[in-house]
Amino acid sequence: MPEAAQVASLVRTSLEACGVDIDSLQGEQEARSPLTGTVLTMVASSSFDDIDRMIGEAAEAFTSWRDVPAPVRGGLVKRWGELLTEHKDDLANIITAEAGKITSEALGEVQEMIDICDFAVGQSRQLYGKTMPSERPGHRLMETWHPLGVVGIISAFNFPVAVYSWNTALALICGDTVIWKPSETTVLSALAVDALLGQAVKDVGAPANLHKLAITDRVGGERLVDDPRVALISATGSVRMGREVAPRVAARFGRALLELGGNNAAIVAPSADLDLALTGIVFAAVGTAGQRCTSMRRLIVHESIVTELTDKLVAAYGTLRIGSPLQSENLVGPLINQGSFDAMQATLTAARAQGGTVLCGGDRVLAAEAPGAYYVQPAVVRMPGHTPVVADETFAPLLYVMTYRDLNEALTLQNGVPQGLSSAIFTNDQIEAERFLSASGSDCGIANVNIGTSGAEIGGAFGGEKETGGGRESGSDSWKNYMRQATNTINYSGMLPLAQGVKFL
Ligand code: NAD
Repeated sequence: MPEAAQVASLVRTSLEACGVDIDSLQGEQEARSPLTGTVLTMVASSSFDDIDRMIGEAAEAFTSWRDVPAPVRGGLVKRWGELLTEHKDDLANIITAEAGKITSEALGEVQEMIDICDFAVGQSRQLYGKTMPSERPGHRLMETWHPLGVVGIISAFNFPVAVYSWNTALALICGDTVIWKPSETTVLSALAVDALLGQAVKDVGAPANLHKLAITDRVGGERLVDDPRVALISATGSVRMGREVAPRVAARFGRALLELGGNNAAIVAPSADLDLALTGIVFAAVGTAGQRCTSMRRLIVHESIVTELTDKLVAAYGTLRIGSPLQSENLVGPLINQGSFDAMQATLTAARAQGGTVLCGGDRVLAAEAPGAYYVQPAVVRMPGHTPVVADETFAPLLYVMTYRDLNEALTLQNGVPQGLSSAIFTNDQIEAERFLSASGSDCGIANVNIGTSGAEIGGAFGGEKETGGGRESGSDSWKNYMRQATNTINYSGMLPLAQGVKFL
């Protein structure tokens, strides 16, 4: 286990390298590391007045930024991407120390930020509108996409910076300004990323106020949510948060883009390559210690192969090294805090009460070496079916195993939860794979074949249905979320014929 002072020193050096003023790190809010459970530093939080002022300044900056040509706006995002590349290791250190990700996954998170910057720079020359034939002679119809306004970004602890960049890179090339409320658990990662964006803004001479960072809790977040000057609230987090945020935004007719919890399943069919499936399942269920929105939580296995697969799973889980995510041999880092650990234990108790059998894992480890941290053995639990506990997302490495007899039953189980983020099927039967991807197959926003539920890449739209909230980010035509659409009719006929043949005057 690393010493608390070692982790704090690594973070301070990395923050400084990213341009954060270390002397300003004081205030009433604690920044903790889940590696040790100790305080890394204190930070100042934003008052309501600060947040109101930031919104006003971002709204003011919007009035000039929206008139900058989109490809020129792309130049800012290009520079940001360069700085993220230059400081990839520094950022990864902070993410590991603050969110508990193993170094390889922390580096992956920063790479995802670099990728979305590349994507957004290209997109800045592709904000396409359509033209349509008019029914009237001498007329032309077209659509135009305009910048939207201030975008309020609320993000979760488990992807402390990547989700912010998905939103910000696209919002900026679309001509919007942004205000970010990161998770109260990962404020240092936010300070570093915001400092790098600040540097990029300076380097290209963009308006200084086009990005704002509000260090605040959920009550401060509600300030953003309720403010009519914020045109779009892009909120990532639990379904509970979405239930609070969505009606408040709707009450003021604002726009909401919601990326909420998942309860992701994989179906394993008899024809599946079990070794390939095993690798995909273990990464998806255990990666980031089960704290990804796309983490695999349910395994729906054909009854003919369930014993073979669960034996392999239990053996594979037995080889996983749990410990400090700063050490490259470890694959499983800590849970974010005691609350997560308690929630996992409560879920295991409920699962047992509902007929579940724990096949492996679930216990706390390394408690003596790191008394304030919560490292757990990833768990596999055999369930008799879809009992109530299976319908909830428990944000921990906890995988339920259920069986099925035919594909219809598997699909019913797969779709039989309130969330609809990610899903997968492992099969070598093309008909089964196509059925899974069809309209009557998976009901999720992400449906994969022969690959796990997590680890999406930039370019494809990311998001899910039902209680996951319906939002789509980071690819395809998700840029349209950050713009407003205008339809234009241009008359060059010299006359004024009315549509639908209406006669008037
Ligand atoms: P959380 O819901 O506790 O918090 C997320 C963010 O919302 C935080 O910044 C928090 O301060 C803020 N918040 C909470 N209530 C609010 C309110 N009423 N008004 C304004 N802001 C509010 O989630 P978490 O524990 O940080 O993250 C884990 C959850 O996020 C899981 O459910 C996970 O599935 C989900 N998640 C979803 C995605 C996705 O893209 N679908 C990505 C990452 C995480």
